[in-house]
Amino acid sequence: MDAGWRLAAAVPQCPGVGGLRVFVLPHDPVQKAASGSPSASAAPALRPYQREAVRRVIEHFRGSDEPAVVVLPTGSGKSLVIAELARLARGRVLVLAHVRELVEQNHAKYQAYGLSADIFSAGLGRKESGRQVVFGSVQSVVRGLERFASPSQGQGDFTLLVIDECHRVSPAEDASFRRVIERLRRANPRLKVLGLTATPYRLGQGFIYHRHHHGMVRGEADVFFRECVFEQPLRLMVKQGYLAEPVRVDAAVERYDFSALAPSTNGLFREEELNRVAAGNRATPGIIAEVIERARDRQGVMLFAASVAHAEEILGYLPAATAALITGETPSTERERIIAAFKAREIKYLVNVAVLTTGFDAPHVDLIAILRPTESVGLYQQIVGRGLRLSPGKRDCLILDYAGNPWDLYAPEVGSPRPDSDSEPVQVECPACGHANLFWGKRDGELVIEHFGRRCQGLVLSSRARPRAKSEKSTSTMEQCSFRFRFKVCGECGAENDIAARRCHGCQTLLVDADDKLKEALRLRDARVLRVAGMQLEATVNGRGLARLKVTYHDEEGVTLSEWFALETPAQRGAFAAAFLRQHLRAPGVPFRPTTPEEVVAEQRRLRHPDFVVGRKVGRHWQVREKLFDYTGRYRRAVEAG
Ligand SMILES: [Zn+2]
Ligand SMILES: [Zn+2]
Repeated sequence: MDAGWRLAAAVPQCPGVGGLRVFVLPHDPVQKAASGSPSASAAPALRPYQREAVRRVIEHFRGSDEPAVVVLPTGSGKSLVIAELARLARGRVLVLAHVRELVEQNHAKYQAYGLSADIFSAGLGRKESGRQVVFGSVQSVVRGLERFASPSQGQGDFTLLVIDECHRVSPAEDASFRRVIERLRRANPRLKVLGLTATPYRLGQGFIYHRHHHGMVRGEADVFFRECVFEQPLRLMVKQGYLAEPVRVDAAVERYDFSALAPSTNGLFREEELNRVAAGNRATPGIIAEVIERARDRQGVMLFAASVAHAEEILGYLPAATAALITGETPSTERERIIAAFKAREIKYLVNVAVLTTGFDAPHVDLIAILRPTESVGLYQQIVGRGLRLSPGKRDCLILDYAGNPWDLYAPEVGSPRPDSDSEPVQVECPACGHANLFWGKRDGELVIEHFGRRCQGLVLSSRARPRAKSEKSTSTMEQCSFRFRFKVCGECGAENDIAARRCHGCQTLLVDADDKLKEALRLRDARVLRVAGMQLEATVNGRGLARLKVTYHDEEGVTLSEWFALETPAQRGAFAAAFLRQHLRAPGVPFRPTTPEEVVAEQRRLRHPDFVVGRKVGRHWQVREKLFDYTGRYRRAVEAG
C-alpha cells in the first residue's frame, strides 16, 4: 500500500506521477469526512496556520521518508492537525502519545469529524487496533507490539506514525518510542514518522531535529527527526488572537532566591536543592496571600511549586475547600477526580509540582503562579502555556513569577545551555552565507560584543547536489554552511575544525592536542610559555615613526611577550583581520574593520586574550609563535586579571 494522502483542497495535485496515485481529489467517493453535514459532527474548520501545517507535512512526505517535526505552541490545536492528517492519509495511521489524557483528547478531536478510530491504551481500558486509525499510548503499544507490527489479513501496514509531544522521544535506541518505530519500519520501510511538539528541544540534547525549513541547522547531524517542516511562533498566536495574552506582573511581595542553584549535569535542578530554598521559606505565606488577592476576579489558578514539601505548604495557605494538590505520586483515580473538579470550577486553586506541564487542558485557567525556577525557556513556555488557551469570558492570563525566572516568553530557544547568567540570545550574521545565526552572547547597547557560537547554522546549496528547479526547493539537498566562528586549524592541511574536534574533517589526521603543544614548548630552552593573565593594547610608533599596534601578553608573574601589527594598507588590514581579529574577537563574525591602531585600542572590549601564548627566541628577541584559545586541557589557566 502506498503512503499516500487524500488531497486537501490546498494541496496542488499532480495526478498519476510515476503511476503512483498519491492523492485523491476532494470529491473522491472514498472521502470520509462528513462535510456539509449540519450536525455537530461536521468536520471542524481548520485555522489558516493549521491548514498550512497540514499542507507542509503532505508536501514533505510526498518527496521524503525522513522523519519530520511540526512545532505548534500549546493551545494551538495540535489535535486538529493530527485529526486532519489522519483523515487525509490513505494508509493506516498510528497516533502515539505518552500519557493517556493526550490519547483521549486526540481521539476525541478525531471523533469530532464524525469519524471513528480505535484506542489502544491499557489506562483507558481499551485495546483496539483493527481500524484504519489508532490512537495509542506508547507504553501500551510497546507491550502489544505484535498486533501493530504484523497486522492480520486485510488491515495493511501502518504508513504514518504521528508522535504527539515528540520532544519526549529519547535518543536512546531501546526507548519505547524507538522500539515502536523500529518494528513498524520492519513491516513498512517507507513508514512516515511525524512528530508534533510545542518545545522541540531536550535538556542536555538540544534541538530534536536537524534542519529547519527556514534554511538552518538546529540539532546535531545524528538526531532522529530530520526536518522541522512547519513552526508557528507563540507571539504570532497571541497577536492573531488565537491565544490569550500573557500578562506578566512583577510580584509585589517577596520572592524566592534560587540564584545560587546550579543545574546538575542533566540540566535539571536537584529536588533536594530546590527544597532547601523553597520549603519552610518565610516568604511563602505572604506570596500565597498575594496570589489569593490577585485571584479575586480570576476563574482558575495554577500554582507551580518547587518540591512536594513546598507544594504541601502552599496548599496549607490556600482556602481548603477550593484548593487541591497533584504530585507525581497522586494515584490516577484521585488525579482524575481533582482535574475534573478543577475543570468544573469546583476547585479554584490547583497546586502541582511540574506534573501538569504537558497533556493537561483546562482552558479557563487565567492565573499562573510560578514558585519554582525553570531550567529552560521551554519548560517556562510549557508552564505559562497552561494559561493561554481561549475560554469564554477570559481576557488574558496573569503570570505571577516568584522565582525570578529570567526567561522572555517569546524568546527563541538557542538550543544549547546558557553559558552564564549574563548571556542572552543574540543574532550574528554569517560573513560567508549571510545567515542570521542565533547564539548565546552579550550585548553592549545594540552591539554584540561576545557570542558563543561555533559554526554557522545556515543551510547552503550542497556542492554535490544536482541543480534543481527553483520550485523544487528542498532543504534535504542543502548542507550546513562551513563557516566557523570558533575553530582550530589543522597543522597538516590548514582546514578549520571545531574547537572540540579530535580528527581533522579535511585530511582525517589526528589534530595535535593543545597539551602536547604546551608540553613540547616547555621542554625547549628557547621557548617561552605564557599562562596569559591579561593583554595590553597600545597605539605606538616604530623606529621609523610609523603607526603600529603593540599587543602585549603577560602571565601572573608579569612575564611578557609582544607582537606588532601595521594597519596602513588594505593588505596589512587584511593580514591583521586574518592573523589577529579572527581569533581575538569575542564576537567573531560581527563586522569590525579598524583602520588605525587607535581604533583597535578604543574597541578593546570586543577582544579577548588567548589562554596560552608560546614564544620562541629569535636572536635577541622573543617572537609570538602560537596562541591557544578555548583551552580545555589539563594545565591550569590563569586567574583572570583585569
Ligand atoms: Zn554561513
Ligand atoms: Zn587536516
